[in-house]
Amino acid sequence: MVLAQLGEGITAALSRMCRATVADDAALTTCLDDVSRALLRADVRFESVRAAIHNVKSTTNPSTLPPGVDRRRAVHKAIFAELCHMLDPGKLPFTPTKGNKPNVVMFVGLQGSGKTTTCAKHAAYHRRKGFAPALVCADTFRAGAFDQLKQNASKAKIPFYGSYTESDPVKIAMKGIDTFKNERCDLIIVDTSGRHRQEDALFEEMRQLSEATKPDLVIFVVDASIGQAAFDQALAFKKSAPVGAVIVTKMDGHAKGGGALSAVAATRSPVIFIGTGEHIPDLEPFDVKPFVSRLMG
Ligand code: GDP
Repeated sequence: MVLAQLGEGITAALSRMCRATVADDAALTTCLDDVSRALLRADVRFESVRAAIHNVKSTTNPSTLPPGVDRRRAVHKAIFAELCHMLDPGKLPFTPTKGNKPNVVMFVGLQGSGKTTTCAKHAAYHRRKGFAPALVCADTFRAGAFDQLKQNASKAKIPFYGSYTESDPVKIAMKGIDTFKNERCDLIIVDTSGRHRQEDALFEEMRQLSEATKPDLVIFVVDASIGQAAFDQALAFKKSAPVGAVIVTKMDGHAKGGGALSAVAATRSPVIFIGTGEHIPDLEPFDVKPFVSRLMG
């Protein structure tokens, strides 16, 4: 079962309980066992699942429910609340502020996650909010990364820095940041490499880049349809760079976004935006309740 199927697992468990003749303890136990399995298979940590199930059980105990409340609805509501809670790491993300001090934001994530596209979307979003953003391409590994970001930058009319000839991403990032600081840009967004199959080298590169550039925020970009590797992937990025926020891309597709739960659990960082399409304006601030509704199907 992949993370994207988490919602189906929970929906199936709830509808089985709805079909049960009576919503008694046995039906509730079966339902919550199914929900636990769906969450565990989705790589949500055991401790989080155990705590969530415990909370659902105690809030839906007939002795604590007000008279006349339908237990099935109460269970649905309690699971909804627990999933919202799982998406809340309990801390607010860094938010860029306009003014003299430039904000440096570094994007990390595996190739194909939508990182480069999201850098441009993020820049355009903040320009609409009155920032003076700029984009730096520090991905020297993927052929085409430079052109892709440059094209997106020029489409969105955002200043861009990159190099065809320099192979050291740290040098490019530092030069780009310096250049845009001098140009008084107040949001400098650094796109990084996301190469597959050379993960040790990738994570070392992320460590060096974040140490050198000292970003105000590191954003982990994750594809909504990613499989079970989401937790480990997010954790590995978190170990190499101080990830402080998550963006879930491709939410316009069929994926329900279960990977977000694991990314939040692994990084202890909140989701801040979701990507809803391939175009520059397709970035929406994350809103936990509609997201969980979708997750539950
Ligand atoms: P990177 O390798 O992580 O930099 O990924 P890219 O930015 O090159 O994106 C990979 C593919 O995903 C491209 O075809 C993008 O157009 C597409 N993409 C990125 N974000 C979204 C999104 O929110 N929705 C959809 N449908 N496609 C996206």
